[in-house]
Amino acid sequence: MTVQNIINNAVKRLKLEGKIMTPDFYAEAFCKEASRAKVSVEDCNHVSKFTKTLNKEFQKDIKNYHIKTIHEFIRFIVSKLNRTNPTQCTDTLESQNLLTKRILQVVEVLHNKEASELAKNTIEIIALGSQPDQLDAFRQRWVNFLTTYDDTFLKKLDSYGDIDTKNLKRSVENLQENSSLVDHPHLDLEKISKLLISSFVPSIASSVNDTIANLSEKIRKNPSLLESISIEKEIRFAISLRIALDKDSVKEMVESIDGVLDKLSLCLIDIIEYSDSSTVAIQAIKKELESYSNGSTGNFKVAHKKLYTIAIALEENTQLLSKDLKDHSGDVQALCAKIKRLENELKSSREELKEDFLTKLYNRRALDELMTVKEAEYERYGHDFTIVMFDLDKFKVVNDNYGHNAGDAVLSAFGKILKKECRTVDVVGRFGGEEFLAILSKTDINGGIVFAEKVRNHILKARFIYAGERINVTVSCGVSNRDSNISLETTIKSADKSLYKAKEGGRNRVESKK
Ligand code: GH3
Ligand code: MG
Ligand code: MG
Repeated sequence: MTVQNIINNAVKRLKLEGKIMTPDFYAEAFCKEASRAKVSVEDCNHVSKFTKTLNKEFQKDIKNYHIKTIHEFIRFIVSKLNRTNPTQCTDTLESQNLLTKRILQVVEVLHNKEASELAKNTIEIIALGSQPDQLDAFRQRWVNFLTTYDDTFLKKLDSYGDIDTKNLKRSVENLQENSSLVDHPHLDLEKISKLLISSFVPSIASSVNDTIANLSEKIRKNPSLLESISIEKEIRFAISLRIALDKDSVKEMVESIDGVLDKLSLCLIDIIEYSDSSTVAIQAIKKELESYSNGSTGNFKVAHKKLYTIAIALEENTQLLSKDLKDHSGDVQALCAKIKRLENELKSSREELKEDFLTKLYNRRALDELMTVKEAEYERYGHDFTIVMFDLDKFKVVNDNYGHNAGDAVLSAFGKILKKECRTVDVVGRFGGEEFLAILSKTDINGGIVFAEKVRNHILKARFIYAGERINVTVSCGVSNRDSNISLETTIKSADKSLYKAKEGGRNRVESKK
């Protein structure tokens, strides 16, 4: 196609499009026709020649605005230049800055601690007019926040109602609506049932009513029954039953206390009656007590008043008693002295009676007298006799180990054994302390030894039990015969010497001088 054809087609196009033949419209129509005819005309490529030198963004804009002519291109460039003048730039920056600040202030009041703190710090750093690297660091922190932010925790609340993570206010309202007791899905009915059951059990009354027991069992087996409305009536009834049972028990208790108080007040009335020093005040209390003794009421207030009156009566009476005691303290002292004197008299009369107070055997004085009688018989009739002296071994140790009372008990028991082993004609007595003496009538030295051995063996085998403890006791014996001695005195001395020998020889043995 020739240039002439392109020109002709351009004129036709202008006519068809109804445009006037201005240089611009003509140039546009010419270039379009040239392009259609695939003919490259340098003048038509002016715009693309310049646009190629611009950045991609500008190129895109130019394409979007369908900029074809050089005029359009120049207008586009001028408008761009106008828009990016320095004053406009600063204004824009300031507006953006302000906008950022406002957004951050909003973030600061939102309900996320991390975001709110980061917003606060960012506002501060912006206000300080920080350097780009500092701002970049904060930008990075925001990026970090966004990448690590996790709101799945809100899902945990889902079981309580609808949770809208985009609208927390609404979610909270939902929570409130759904928190009614009965609809709560996680309500621990088993726990509540246990609590309820324990509230039915009477705390004072000892027995449980059948109705209460049955209801408790029913709820224990099926706690979900608590959700039904019908059970409420039964629970109320059980609680009222429990209270009634407790009340009855308390009433019974008060009644029994009342009974005790009645008896107590009667006793007091008796005491007051027999008291010499009953004053008018005490008599008044007596009257009051008497008025209370007329039948039980079981009323706590009455029991309380009774107790109070009894307490006053007791106080008054004890005061009088102590006064009486003080008044009669002289009499008491005189009585004490009398008792002491009587004790002494008893002691001396015992001595006169010649009885040892502990063993009830003959005492030393009696033994001396009886030996003199035996001696007289010996001298007049030639009636021989043998003396056996007994001394309990290591008796001090018995006292030390088991106490003096235990020692006394052993001495008393030894006395009984001695009495049991001798003949009725023989004389046994306590010579002193843990020493005993036997006067065996018409007995020679061998008979004396046999008797002494019998006693020694009996003691050895005897079970001396005191306060649950077994006490081992042995005895040493010295035997002496009158016929083998020149006098009573030497006979006694000889028995004593043999006893000493027995001790020396190792104790728990019988010695004699034949
Ligand atoms: P042994 O004769 O084997 O040499 O030793 P012993 O410990 O028995 O001798 P000693 O003569 O030293 O002590 C005698 C003890 O007997 C002293 C005293 O405590 C005790 N005694 C004496 N009379 C009584 C008494 O009436 N009641 C009690 N419980 N003990 C007594
Ligand atoms: Mg002794
Ligand atoms: Mg002794």
